Amino acid sequence: MAVRPLLMIPGPIEVSPEVIEAFSGPPPGHVSPPVIEAFGSSLEMMRDVWCADDAAQPFVVAGSGTTAMDMAAYNLIEPGEVALVINTGYFGDRAAEMLRRRGAVVHEVVSELGDIPTADEIESAVTQHNPTLVWAPHVDTSTGARVDAKVICDIANRYDALTVFDGICATAAEEFRMADWGADVYLTASQKAIGLPPGLALLVASKRAMAKRESLNTPPPMSVDFHQWLPIMTAYEERRPSYFSTPATSLIMALSVSLKQTLDHGMDAIFARHETVASAFRNAFQEMGLEMLPAKGVEANTLSAVKYPAGVDASMTKEVAKRGAIIAGGLHPKLKTTYFRVGHMGYSVFQNDWLLRTLVAVQGGLEVCGHTTDSSILDNFQDAIG
Ligand SMILES: *Cc1c(COP(=O)(O)O)cnc(C)c1O
Repeated sequence: MAVRPLLMIPGPIEVSPEVIEAFSGPPPGHVSPPVIEAFGSSLEMMRDVWCADDAAQPFVVAGSGTTAMDMAAYNLIEPGEVALVINTGYFGDRAAEMLRRRGAVVHEVVSELGDIPTADEIESAVTQHNPTLVWAPHVDTSTGARVDAKVICDIANRYDALTVFDGICATAAEEFRMADWGADVYLTASQKAIGLPPGLALLVASKRAMAKRESLNTPPPMSVDFHQWLPIMTAYEERRPSYFSTPATSLIMALSVSLKQTLDHGMDAIFARHETVASAFRNAFQEMGLEMLPAKGVEANTLSAVKYPAGVDASMTKEVAKRGAIIAGGLHPKLKTTYFRVGHMGYSVFQNDWLLRTLVAVQGGLEVCGHTTDSSILDNFQDAIG
């Protein structure tokens, strides 16, 4: 019998057996005691996973990452106000379009694809446009480049702008310290490093972000309104039943399990492990003679975006899948056919046999496409992942 290929794309990702157990079975009601407990404890644990303070407000609503982005866009700015988007790729484009649809006046600091804007470029855009909101994808999944979120927080805070970080390909994997850095919203979706199936939008908002919502003249759509959801989140955290719009109850059961598994490792260990695994993959790809898409020093720890070597094209990903690992092709429309992406985040970064299987599959896929590489690369990789 063929082995099920591993899902090694930048989301959805492989999830733990305990998570699968938690979301399987008959769907529980939204006011059943186990859901109330799982919801309440998940909100508490989110503050720790986000490295946020007690005053920060977590939200969990049914939806995708894009729902979480809409929630941030509609609660933190209103028509006529100025937003600055740090645009490093596909998801920066999406954020800019979303903020425009909210009615904001949107300016962008755009980097070369694969790179990030410098602190000076960001600061001069902030002084020039005087935004009330600065938005950045923490990792842009289309290029595999990561911004320096702390630097962006420092600049925005100096000029009194709120910050939103799209952490959909970063949260619970890349270092992010919401309280220490003074970020206002950090958002993600369940199918990325959080380690669940798709279906939940997750977001933590600072006290300032909550106050901004209360000051708006044009309220957000009800389904993404902080004000509408706050009493529900408060009720669950106080372990009281509540209802506004039905939560994804099976996924909430699983969320409490995956957050607990994350915190059992400890956030410092989680951040360090993703860094170790990412650097092992990068070294292996470079030893295979491949070039990374992101510039040196800004490569994400959650995925590798790698250029096809000469003579190899996108058909290579199908060969890799046949060998036991599903990887992703390119995403950015301008570069789509020139690179592939391997996701390495969440549960799988602790499964050394899966990581090795993935690299073996990539090596085999390259080989059948005419790019042969040395088997010692696998030994080096195994040493590096421990
Ligand atoms: C996946 C992703 C999104 C979109 O999330 P969906 O759940 O597909 O809506 C947005 N931003 C980033 C950085 C992502 O990786």
